[in-house]
Amino acid sequence: MLDRTRIEELRHAAVPPALHVIDGERRPASDGGVLEVISPLDGRAFTTMARGTQQDADAAIAAARRAFDEGGWRDMAPAARKKILLKWADLIAGNALELAVLGVRDNGTEIGMALKAEPLSAAGTIRYYAEALDKLSGEIAPTDPGVLGLVHREPVGVVGAIVPWNFPLMIGAWKFAPALAAGNTVVLKPAETASLTLVRLAELALEAGLPPGVFNVVTGPGPVVGAAIGLSMEVDVLVFTGSGATGRRLLEYAARSNLKRVYLELGGKSPNIVFADTPDLAQAVKVSANGIFRNSGQVCVAGSRLLVERSIHDRFVEALAGQVQVMTVGDPLDPATGAGAVNSLAQLDRNLGFVEEARALGREVRIGGKRILEETGGYYMAPTIVTGVAPSDRLARDEVFGPVLAVIPFDTEEEAVAIANGTDYGLAAAVWTRDLSRAHRMVRAIRAGVVHVNTYGGADLTVPLGGVKQSGNGHDKSLHAFDKYLDLKTAWIKL
Ligand code: NAD
Repeated sequence: MLDRTRIEELRHAAVPPALHVIDGERRPASDGGVLEVISPLDGRAFTTMARGTQQDADAAIAAARRAFDEGGWRDMAPAARKKILLKWADLIAGNALELAVLGVRDNGTEIGMALKAEPLSAAGTIRYYAEALDKLSGEIAPTDPGVLGLVHREPVGVVGAIVPWNFPLMIGAWKFAPALAAGNTVVLKPAETASLTLVRLAELALEAGLPPGVFNVVTGPGPVVGAAIGLSMEVDVLVFTGSGATGRRLLEYAARSNLKRVYLELGGKSPNIVFADTPDLAQAVKVSANGIFRNSGQVCVAGSRLLVERSIHDRFVEALAGQVQVMTVGDPLDPATGAGAVNSLAQLDRNLGFVEEARALGREVRIGGKRILEETGGYYMAPTIVTGVAPSDRLARDEVFGPVLAVIPFDTEEEAVAIANGTDYGLAAAVWTRDLSRAHRMVRAIRAGVVHVNTYGGADLTVPLGGVKQSGNGHDKSLHAFDKYLDLKTAWIKL
């Protein structure tokens, strides 16, 4: 149960300026620059954060390099490393509501979801990888009997992590937790519009006893701080979640610098495919609505394309519109809210632009399609359903990353597969059907990192998350995530 009184206290609590955390110290920007932190709840600035410079990024990278090369973290007994990480997770969980409210004020996610998906999820992720770190081991290779072939798994070195604004703690932890557990050191750059909670996490890391330089957070503009990390000769691995445009830049940075490994988690345009024989139409409607509209559609795996078999299309859309009408959109710090704010004014304008374009093409905006609650000064958008969308429309192909659902009817399984696969993305998908054989055929036919069957979304840490095609090339979560942060080294010993 969320403590409303405490949430109200925290809603108005003064937030001190956020500083970088570099080499175990809180530091302002090298030139003293700051960025205002604007809340999407009311459009007002409520604190500032350091506007990082190239020098700041370089200082953090140098600290991480030193911390790695000196070996204190890398060579620490696994049990000791685990103990520190578990203490950090406890501190995060112990401050969960404070962190969640701070994050909501910064990025607008509804508090119920934010609490679970942000601090509690980050704490859980740190625990998962901390518990796993002493189960990692190398191999003895089946070589010629005159030789002992050993395969060591070693931490790669300095990991640069660049993360987006929709779930900064959850996505951040998916990267830094396995990286740190495996013995690497990290320089993390949060998104400009969601930095505060990650800075706070870095402060808690120091309290937990992470040695200086092991986990550094540098805030500021992507093209300055992010580029410095991407172009650095001292960063060995670059992990990223965000837009395809930035992902391409990071690959260029790697090519222009030290060929660092680059792992990208990019966007999606995920198809949610409902066949007429869906087991429970009411359930499919409810879950589909949540699958696109929670966190105002600012979810990488959002089911943003609804493919519905024509025979149930009208009934389904009608029920979905009814479901959306009872969804409360607004103040994300009210625990009763179903969908909170859009992260920034720029994102809101972008969302509305997609709707206008669909209207101009003659598509029907069945519900929503506009900014709401403008009198609050906040950035709110009504959940929007657009019907009659053609698979070739931009709304059916490009990621909106907002509360806008494109509905496309289909007649056959083959057509559904063709539409589903007809974008550059391949992150998530869902299929609703009673037909087990069809469900399995669809799982095989759809090019995506995850295919849900008779549900949308929902996964735990034990399964990997990643995309195919232009949705990315690496997996977060599960024990497979360790592969990004460990190198293989062979020892070939003649006996
Ligand atoms: P973005 O690419 O603009 O920003 C992401 C991060 O990259 C930010 O920290 C930003 O400061 C940084 N950045 C921007 N320009 C940079 C540059 N030139 N060099 C280095 N770093 C730079 O994306 P966004 O707007 O923050 O996030 C929304 C996007 O992220 C959506 O497309 C969404 O689908 C995607 N996303 C994907 C996943 C996933 O798991 N695949 C998860 C969440 C979000």
